[in-house]
Amino acid sequence: MSIDRIPVGVSSCLLGNPVRYDGDHKRNSYIVDTLTAYFDFHPFCPEVGIGLGVPRPPIRLVMMDNELRVVGVKNKKQDVTDALKAYSLARESEVAQLSGFIFKKGSPSCGTEGVAIFDTSGAVVASGAGLFAAAIMARFPALPVVEERHLQETLLRENFVERVIIYHQWRTGVAAAPTAQALAAFHARLESSLTSRDGDCARRLGELVANASGEGGDLARLADDYIAAAMACLRQPASQPAHFTA
Ligand code: SF4
Repeated sequence: MSIDRIPVGVSSCLLGNPVRYDGDHKRNSYIVDTLTAYFDFHPFCPEVGIGLGVPRPPIRLVMMDNELRVVGVKNKKQDVTDALKAYSLARESEVAQLSGFIFKKGSPSCGTEGVAIFDTSGAVVASGAGLFAAAIMARFPALPVVEERHLQETLLRENFVERVIIYHQWRTGVAAAPTAQALAAFHARLESSLTSRDGDCARRLGELVANASGEGGDLARLADDYIAAAMACLRQPASQPAHFTA
């Protein structure tokens, strides 16, 4: 029996595509050999997407005049910040159709955290997210994201897969046609999963849903607030097993 696979974005090099700056790839066998049975992967390589070749000189995050820029490691006049921002914006409509995203760690474009930020003298002064990942996470705060390294850890892997399934049901259900009744029904199914993470969060979201009424823009905004808060709550580990029912 075939199943409808859930659309999920992925840093292209993780699928084994040779798009890295050094001409290599970072094929992740768990993604390619296991998750592909359940997820329909949509590859993104922002650096190739903005026209940088393969191979290409490496780039990195640099704090310049209190602004985060992405510039060449050797050629400091090479500044691809604006191109990466434009790429992120241009791919938003595609990302809106996804129910999760797996990013490559450590990349100045794709890393979600802990990417080294340099000052103009070349010293590491901080760490943060790569530009493309940061733009996607800011634009889609409820979208489940994970770095591939976390897929090796059972709890984090299961947590990501659970969030993807829940978000997919939200995106293709309530979000497609938000009504107060649909929101209440979704919350009723999610409540035990939320409570197993954070009882206060579950209560707050229950109150939000109980006060939902009407339709149109206000309800759509309330629904956006609900799912952003719910997905943030679900990122926490569950204190006891709980299952979202379809
Ligand atoms: S980490 Fe991102 S930008 Fe770098 S090669 Fe992989 S997909 Fe491309």
